[in-house]
Amino acid sequence: MTVAIGTNTAAMAEAFFTNALARRGQLAKRKTWRPASELAVDLGTANTLIFVKGEGVVLNEPSVAAVDQNGNILGIGLEAKRMLGRTPEGIIAVRPMKDGVIADFHIAEKMLRHFLRLVIDRTFLRVKPTVIVCVPSGITEVERRAVRDSAQSAGVKKLYMVAEPMAAAIGVGLPVDTPVGSMVIDIGGGTTNIAVIALSGIVCDASIRTGGDELDQAIVQFMRKTYSLLIGEPTAERIKIGLGSATMLEREGEMDVKGRDLVSGLPKTIRIDSGGVRDAIQEPVSHIINAVRRALEMTPPELASDVLEHGIMLTGGGSLIRGLDQRLMDETGLPVRVDEDPLTSVVRGTGRILDDFARYGSVLTT
Ligand code: ADP
Ligand code: MG
Repeated sequence: MTVAIGTNTAAMAEAFFTNALARRGQLAKRKTWRPASELAVDLGTANTLIFVKGEGVVLNEPSVAAVDQNGNILGIGLEAKRMLGRTPEGIIAVRPMKDGVIADFHIAEKMLRHFLRLVIDRTFLRVKPTVIVCVPSGITEVERRAVRDSAQSAGVKKLYMVAEPMAAAIGVGLPVDTPVGSMVIDIGGGTTNIAVIALSGIVCDASIRTGGDELDQAIVQFMRKTYSLLIGEPTAERIKIGLGSATMLEREGEMDVKGRDLVSGLPKTIRIDSGGVRDAIQEPVSHIINAVRRALEMTPPELASDVLEHGIMLTGGGSLIRGLDQRLMDETGLPVRVDEDPLTSVVRGTGRILDDFARYGSVLTT
């Protein structure tokens, strides 16, 4: 899309949102009579998902905002992500949820409000909804307040919060309310969160600031060093999804990559293979594996024996790296499984809490 740079930012922003809404289509078209009275929100570093009770996931957009020099927000979500790396001068793409915490309150608040409004305004009969938002387990009181403020200004009647690892564990169907310990590892965009859960509580919880996005950065560096080719993060992400792996593959792959040659300054195409990409992402992948080992060492012995028996569950988009489960099995000797739809585990879990307040209500905070 093209973005005009003018002085009248308010008018631009207005036009931008109208376009964005028109193009988003899927959400607007599904205008419905059924009021969205109970919502679950996964406010991730990479993606925000909203689940409506009785309907399922109705919104799934990148947690990105496009912002001009004066701090005005020009776009949020998909539109803003498309601008990443190709923004006109003076407009930057901001990820308000960087590193698993709220890095920019002002924008995070606007973003959450924007997404909630999209869902609420989609219905003819508007009601003030009850909302559960999943938040990082180490969230501070100041960050909680930012979540409360944005929910309130979006017209939320009652707000609850749940820690992400708990929501992920419920989403994948682990028996969180029993004394049996369950280990869940959520590899998101900015962070990897490892938690052991028992009796509806988080028994131990470790988090590192390495997630799927760091693999993208490693690929950018690799292309620069090995081929003198400059690529943007969206291209690096496509390479990761297309070729990335944590173990040798039965069928190794190849891919053509377009970028800018650092020497000539001109566009160039390079063919790369999955072995090279595996080496490129080796370092951040080992960070994740080492964090899992450390977490296992910290796990109380009784729960560790549960984990030995029942294994580890992987969730989050980062767990889709080919062979990561195998690699973790080799290095820990424990059974490892990836959720069937790891990008939605957290929001599905939050949705389950909505469906069964009696069983899961105790995991919520306000
Ligand atoms: P968050 O909870 O932080 O928003 P997500 O669980 O949505 O994060 O995961 C986003 C991360 O998953 C990104 O780094 C993205 O590149 C990565 N990802 C998504 N799909 C795949 C895939 N098929 N293979 C590897 N990584 C993926
Ligand atoms: Mg997440």
